[in-house]
Amino acid sequence: MIDVSHLSKSYGPIEALRDVSFSIAAGEIVGLLGPNGAGKTTIIKILTGYLQPDAGTVLVNGLDVLEHTREVQAQIGYLPETAPLYPELSVQAYLKMMADLRQIPVEQQPHLLSEAIYATGLQDHLTRPIGQLSKGYRQRVGLAQAILHRPRLLILDEPTVGLDPTQIVETRNLIRRLAEHSTVLFSTHILSEVEALCDRVIILINGQVKADARLSELEATSDAILVLDQRVPEVPETLKHLPQVQGVGVFKSHDGFPAYRVLGRTAKDRPPVANDLCPAIYNLAREHNWPVRELRRDVRTLETVFNELATAEVAQ
Ligand code: ATP
Repeated sequence: MIDVSHLSKSYGPIEALRDVSFSIAAGEIVGLLGPNGAGKTTIIKILTGYLQPDAGTVLVNGLDVLEHTREVQAQIGYLPETAPLYPELSVQAYLKMMADLRQIPVEQQPHLLSEAIYATGLQDHLTRPIGQLSKGYRQRVGLAQAILHRPRLLILDEPTVGLDPTQIVETRNLIRRLAEHSTVLFSTHILSEVEALCDRVIILINGQVKADARLSELEATSDAILVLDQRVPEVPETLKHLPQVQGVGVFKSHDGFPAYRVLGRTAKDRPPVANDLCPAIYNLAREHNWPVRELRRDVRTLETVFNELATAEVAQ
């Protein structure tokens, strides 16, 4: 649905994006994660046709954003970092104005407006001036205008920034519901947001994509945990013969069974997506008839991955 290839963008001497490429398939919910100043807003503005890149292309449903800006914008629901809401307008008047600006035919407006209003839970606030709403409700108004024309693609720039914890949970639930019918790309600098909402994450640091993977892949390590029903003395030595294995630690699983942490060779210099030792261990276990109770990849938190990538960047 989105194909970004080799995007670069500088603001004077500041290189905001450097050769950024990624694709997003229909139906995905993808988090664009990066610290302040990583280039998230710059990417989003380019994707939505509000900023021109210095180099590279963006295709949305096969259409080049630069050449078909209006057509692409008509297919996207966009929530900017600071949505341009009009504080003196009521929620209803503002959404009606947005429907007119989007050139939604008048006969379709009542249905589409009420759909967006109910989806965002604004039905009890329609007559209130936007300026009197809480930040959470203003964010809902921003989301309501973004989904008014039933876009198949939603692009949300830091959708929960500045919200209190309750509003954050509500907004995430709302995004999750919207994602049932649309492809969603949202930016955030909050790790837990990515963990709560998406399957896939693109990590952007200093204008470059440092990782692009499913969360489960990213959180997996090159290490594996093997638990047996009973102790088999030769297991550690046999495992060490695998070329990918650096070492084997022995411990007891939480329910008292003999367990082994098998350390992958790449453990020290981890690539963003680690190798999986389990197939090789599984084959060995079958060959030697080990009484396998459990075999799984060891995991690390997204926070650890992010810190490793950010530290590597600083050290370069
Ligand atoms: P944040 O999480 O703080 O919103 P971001 O990841 O969205 O950050 P961008 O806003 O895309 O990052 O900014 C990327 C870099 O480009 C930053 O160094 C920023 O200072 C710079 N930048 C962004 N917009 C401009 C501009 N209009 N003029 C000059 N520099 C800019």
